[in-house]
Amino acid sequence: MICPKCKGNGFTKSTFEAEEVILQCSTCESQGELDPNKHYGQSWTEDNGNKALYFGPLLDPKNFKDWTLD
Ligand SMILES: [Zn+2]
Repeated sequence: MICPKCKGNGFTKSTFEAEEVILQCSTCESQGELDPNKHYGQSWTEDNGNKALYFGPLLDPKNFKDWTLD
């Protein structure tokens, strides 16, 4: 699965004090893809509005509202 944090680039860009800096993506360790056998911290919003936290194999983001990687 493509890393949702860097969108498969392996790095993320952010602006720091008016300078653009390129950061290696720590979520996928700059691979651009996530290893389905590895465990990741994830969170999403449940139907009752509560925030759910989970650490384990990747879930299918389609099945979870507001799914994000931590
Ligand atoms: Zn990434």
